[in-house]
Amino acid sequence: MIIHLKEHLDAAAVERLAGELEAVVVPGNGRAVLVTPAARKTLAPDQEALTDSVFVSDTDMQLADRRYRRETRSIEVGEHRIGGGSDATLMMAGPCSVESREQIEACAELVAGLGVSTLRAGCFKPRTSPYSFQGLGQAGLDLLAEMRERYGLLVITEVRDATHVDAVIEAADIVQIGAKSMYDHGILRRCGSAGKPVLLKRGLATTLQEFVQAAEFILSGGNEDVVLCERGIRTFEPKTRFTLDLCGVAYLKHHTNLPVVVDPTHAMGYAYGVPDLARAATAMGVDGLLIETHPDPPNALSDASQQLDFAQFRELFASLGPVAAAVGRRIV
Ligand code: PEP
Ligand code: MN
Repeated sequence: MIIHLKEHLDAAAVERLAGELEAVVVPGNGRAVLVTPAARKTLAPDQEALTDSVFVSDTDMQLADRRYRRETRSIEVGEHRIGGGSDATLMMAGPCSVESREQIEACAELVAGLGVSTLRAGCFKPRTSPYSFQGLGQAGLDLLAEMRERYGLLVITEVRDATHVDAVIEAADIVQIGAKSMYDHGILRRCGSAGKPVLLKRGLATTLQEFVQAAEFILSGGNEDVVLCERGIRTFEPKTRFTLDLCGVAYLKHHTNLPVVVDPTHAMGYAYGVPDLARAATAMGVDGLLIETHPDPPNALSDASQQLDFAQFRELFASLGPVAAAVGRRIV
């Protein structure tokens, strides 16, 4: 249950009511908002007297529920806006990891040259093995800051654990929470007060309900700018790395008020399938795409099998414009 309280209540009254209802107080500038754990709670007359409006959800979705907020949330990223009726599909492209100055410079030059708004690249990599390349860390963030400045690009980069969450929030235009971190409540809670848009990836073996509930941790912390990213889930099928859940994308678009982005690269795991999946997602009218591209994919230090080379990325990018236009959208 979401309770919008009357304006100008003093903080003590809000805290008292929150305590009585076992509710979370959502920080914000306007009137106080409380979210209770149970779907339905009856309010005593003195509690009702403090209340302006009440939304009762019969699902485990509260602030993300489209019935609570009918319009998709509008999120400003640099000069662009996604969600909230915007026709922009945000292209976030770049290598899996920042590997060297030469490598990230080549990627920045490619995407900026094509008019792509956002450079993606990880600096703190959540690898399956501790013996694999773990990312350049702060040195990678510094290189991204340089590319951002020099090429006028927005930057999305991921936070792997709580030790560097502040450094990533500082450096990024969009903070990415990876699939393996979807359940990291330290990260989720810190991102709730980040003051930057957050792209939350779906965990590899999580239901849509669990995914949206993870987003609720960020929303209930007062950060309204949460973007959901479907990146493939683990199924019984081993021929592709994961299975891109486009049914899930349709569900999230229909039932939540959060912008939805698709990452076909990690879902497929192999470069050959990425362009078709990217076009399929674009035709669904998603709010953004996350695509990996690398100057020399076979020698990439992470995710070598799935990154597009530059020629493949150029070809894909050229093909997306008409698909987006066919559904009344444009790629930025
Ligand atoms: C990535 O974007 O490079 C990444 C590690 O993705 P995921 O969290 O979806 O595995
Ligand atoms: Mn990757």
